[in-house]
Amino acid sequence: MGSKVQQSTWVDSTFYTRVMLRTLANCTPHPTLPFSLGHIILVLRGDHFIKGRSFWTLSIPADASWGWRKILKLRHIAKGLIQHIPGDGTNIYIWHDYWHPSGPLIDAYGSNIVRDAGIPFQAKLASVINGNFWRWPPARSPQLVQIQMHLFDMFPKEGEKDMVIWRPSNSGNFKVGQTWNWLKRKKTRKVWHRLIWFSQAIPKHSFISWLAILNRLSTKARQRKWTLSIVDTCVLCNNELETSEHLFFKCSYTQKIWKTLSVMAGIPLTNSWQGLLHWMGKKVSRKSLQNTLVKLAWNAAVYHTWRERNRRIHQKHFKAEDEIVYEVQFDVRCKILGFAQPKSSPLPMDIAKQWGLEDVVKE
Ligand SMILES: [Zn+2]
Repeated sequence: MGSKVQQSTWVDSTFYTRVMLRTLANCTPHPTLPFSLGHIILVLRGDHFIKGRSFWTLSIPADASWGWRKILKLRHIAKGLIQHIPGDGTNIYIWHDYWHPSGPLIDAYGSNIVRDAGIPFQAKLASVINGNFWRWPPARSPQLVQIQMHLFDMFPKEGEKDMVIWRPSNSGNFKVGQTWNWLKRKKTRKVWHRLIWFSQAIPKHSFISWLAILNRLSTKARQRKWTLSIVDTCVLCNNELETSEHLFFKCSYTQKIWKTLSVMAGIPLTNSWQGLLHWMGKKVSRKSLQNTLVKLAWNAAVYHTWRERNRRIHQKHFKAEDEIVYEVQFDVRCKILGFAQPKSSPLPMDIAKQWGLEDVVKE
């Protein structure tokens, strides 16, 4: 997974979302399509099958206008923003709309689910409703059982209209301003993206630290959810439960690595993993060689800590803290020597010395 790809996808999606929202307001429809601005509003209000074609799955015509192309390209974002609350089910498509807790069922379970269920592709939710109760055909696959299990505490309402809610806005109605603010807030929550996906990043490091932040690495605390018999103690200190926060921040072994690296790179010592992420996310937004070094060092430390943890479990081979610091230093130094432009953004001499990068600050 390349860091450049990840980064540009993120930048594009926020930028083009803004474009999409602006364009939605005054879009010229494509002449060969049965859609118009009125239809887009209908899409946002719920009815996206027009003349047998779904707005959500329609392929982009080669001669689509600029505005249409942008809108169609951004459907995946808009889709997550529209939610349906079932009433009598006459305006909700079973497989395509976001009415089920798992999201649009065709996205959550794949298109085979339609065939397995024996319910037509364009069926409305009303076809599996009888008054105030569900009337699903017998479930013929584990996925269909799962779909129905989620519905135990959710009932249709006879005689009531289905509701369509635009999730980002307070009123549930589509509003450009509130939607944009909502997406912006979402963006600030992910301030750590800049810490992980940057153009000089080492992809294998970024990948592991990304999983660590999302708490998706199979730490023992997570494994215990499936296997009760597992020994869940951290193999670095043999003392505490192995969670992501412990492994990468609180562990006495990791703390020693951090203390050394924070002096070497000029990172303050914080008292929580979240605090550190917050500081890093804010700090590294400005482009400079020192900030790039901080980001490279942080990602390398997470990567080499995870590697050490795995080495201890699978190879019974142990390395001391200073060996991990050396590995981090080696990776960061090699990377910086490969791209640094000393004249444009030099490193402070005290930091350069710590990393063996004196050559980078010299003319
Ligand atoms: Zn530990």
